[in-house]
Amino acid sequence: MSNLQTLLEISSSRHTHLCPRQVLGARMGLAGAAALGLALPRKDKGLLIILETDGCFADGIEVATGCSVGHRTLRIEDYGKIAATFIAVKTERALRLAPRANVRERAWKYAPDEHRHYFAQLEGYQRMPVDELFTFQEVALTKPLREILSRPGLRVQCDLCGEEIINQREIYQDHQILCRGCATLAYYQPAPVAAEVWSSFLAVQA
Ligand SMILES: [Zn+2]
Ligand SMILES: [Zn+2]
Repeated sequence: MSNLQTLLEISSSRHTHLCPRQVLGARMGLAGAAALGLALPRKDKGLLIILETDGCFADGIEVATGCSVGHRTLRIEDYGKIAATFIAVKTERALRLAPRANVRERAWKYAPDEHRHYFAQLEGYQRMPVDELFTFQEVALTKPLREILSRPGLRVQCDLCGEEIINQREIYQDHQILCRGCATLAYYQPAPVAAEVWSSFLAVQA
């Protein structure tokens, strides 16, 4: 448990609080790696984690495992779910962990003196046996792992916008190399900006 306490201290120092989601993240990080037989924290690229949400939960996982966006060992597929798939890169074994359906109710049993929901979860999640806390499911990735990992350092140019695309994230369409923004509906579009707003911005920069 002392290991968990240390992790929670680091995780909560990134916030102004410790919350049940950080606890779930830290415990899921420890549990996922343990189930794959991988030692923590990782300093290599032997473990890839695909998270299904961002936020406090992500910080708990990151602190517990050493996997991070910066090292390309942590990815987010934002499904808005407290869940994650742990992939042993060497063997390609993949395990998806998620909280059990009634985990909030179960937490009460492990925090008998606590009468407030939030604090019962905060305490209970730290104490519950891991198999009461999470489901473990062997999964197969729908994309080849090497495609998900991709090769860093490769660069091509988008035929439409001219911007550089790294890490093999280009799309080949109608004999063109396209970035995702050009090939699909991008998350942004050019906005009309009043000329005076722009010129005052440039004046500040100068
Ligand atoms: Zn939080
Ligand atoms: Zn483009």
